[in-house]
Amino acid sequence: MKNVDYVIIGAGLSGLSTAWYLKQAGFSVQVLEAQDDIGGRIHTQHQAGWQIDVGANSGLLSSQPLDELIDSLGLRDQVVVANDQAKNRFVVRGGQLWALPLSIGALLKTPLLSPLSKLSLLWEPFRGRGVGEESIGDFITRRLGKEWRDWVIDPFVSGIFAGHPDKLSVQAAFHKVWLMEKDHGSLFRGMLARMKARKQDRAAGRYVPSNHMISFHKGMSTLPKALAQALADSVQCSARVSALTKTEQGWQVTIASGQTLLANKVIMTLDAPDAAQLLAPLSPTASKLLQSIESPPLAVVALGFDRKQITHALDGFGVLIPRSLGIQTLGAIFSTSIFPQRAPEGKVLLSCFIGGSRNPLVATRDEQTLIDQVVKDLTPLLGIQGKPEMSQVKLWPHAIAQYQLGHLEKVAQIRQALAQDCPNLVTRANWHEGISVPDVVSNAERFARHEYILSRVAP
Ligand SMILES: Cc1cc2nc3c(=O)[nH]c(=O)nc-3n(C[C@H](O)[C@H](O)[C@H](O)COP(=O)(O)OP(=O)(O)OC[C@H]3O[C@@H](n4cnc5c(N)ncnc54)[C@H](O)[C@@H]3O)c2cc1C
Repeated sequence: MKNVDYVIIGAGLSGLSTAWYLKQAGFSVQVLEAQDDIGGRIHTQHQAGWQIDVGANSGLLSSQPLDELIDSLGLRDQVVVANDQAKNRFVVRGGQLWALPLSIGALLKTPLLSPLSKLSLLWEPFRGRGVGEESIGDFITRRLGKEWRDWVIDPFVSGIFAGHPDKLSVQAAFHKVWLMEKDHGSLFRGMLARMKARKQDRAAGRYVPSNHMISFHKGMSTLPKALAQALADSVQCSARVSALTKTEQGWQVTIASGQTLLANKVIMTLDAPDAAQLLAPLSPTASKLLQSIESPPLAVVALGFDRKQITHALDGFGVLIPRSLGIQTLGAIFSTSIFPQRAPEGKVLLSCFIGGSRNPLVATRDEQTLIDQVVKDLTPLLGIQGKPEMSQVKLWPHAIAQYQLGHLEKVAQIRQALAQDCPNLVTRANWHEGISVPDVVSNAERFARHEYILSRVAP
């Protein structure tokens, strides 16, 4: 029976990056993945010249660990930085697409917001702090007014979480935004403080993230694939963990095939519903709490067109559709406007989203119905003529964990239950540590560093 320091359950980016950092620190690891391929929610498909990322579309170079990991894995020359025009993010209002304003001049001109809402920016620094936990919807309404909530934050929340602004906790889901108010009393002052800190870091020669949006020549799968390659035999696919048994030393891990491994520690990187299932016999309390973390279905509908079929310039990252408009599609990323290599010459790729927290059942409809619905929704907005040349649907049954009101308290209770019922078992997962690619890598690096220090001071 194989015996390792850590068994890591799941070979998504969380599992692979945690394994990589632990191995760098000198530990023995074994990653077990249920599917026959690694990557989890990062998955690039290649077909007839189309490069389709059906999970994460890009990553923000907003953290030092991700930047350094790219170098350590020798991936720097494969990085593709998003086109400058990706800064434009369109929102639909009055049947048209309007770019979110990026400058004071653009803000003054945009018809997205009324003059009164524009003026509310002047009062924002003088609004008081909130009391207790608040939703992102209430937070923005309080600081900037309802129009900002309805026409800026509502579509933004759909774009990141496929969630509801009145349900997501600002403290849990938008922690950096919440900190601006907590630490500086205002979003405006918080932004100024952040700019000043960056300037000081740059002057002092400290690391300053570029915040470039990136992918790789062969798509986002490049990152998990490179990690898996570096980990070699330490990653095993088609190895669904079916049971965990406590031993004197740590854990016995059983795979569906019957194979067993021994580990001092188990690291579970599963989404909340999968973790709830595996933990049910070990910690009913943690399992029940995990089940209550909403992770609604979302379908990614990739549509390929000839460039001439679309009249809109597609000169931006994509379009977000406020929920109040009653349109089923949440939005679309103009994939080829950001990363042109994703389609054959003369073609364009749109990655569209439908379902999520506010309309979960729609995502589970049959593929052709979803394609027809998204084309119907986008046709008047983008000036689409005819049918897509290429279409593909990927359903994520539990796409993105919703960090709703009470989430932080729930996570604390899960941790407490696990500490009691499952010693030497930890969770590193997108339901409690941030959902983005840079968050996942930063958390893995921090965890491995902590484990290394612990191993040095432990008797
Ligand atoms: C549609 C979509 C778009 C996204 N877009 C972006 C984006 O553009 N930018 C960004 O930064 N982030 C994006 N994200 C978020 C990001 O992709 C994820 O947060 C991140 O990839 C999660 O990685 P993970 O390893 O935590 O989870 P996962 O990738 O889900 O990995 C968990 C793994 O565990 C495996 N598993 C489950 N049960 C078992 C078991 N019993 N035994 C063994 N293995 C098991 C699963 O098969 C899976 O491979 C997106 C997410 C989705 C769903």
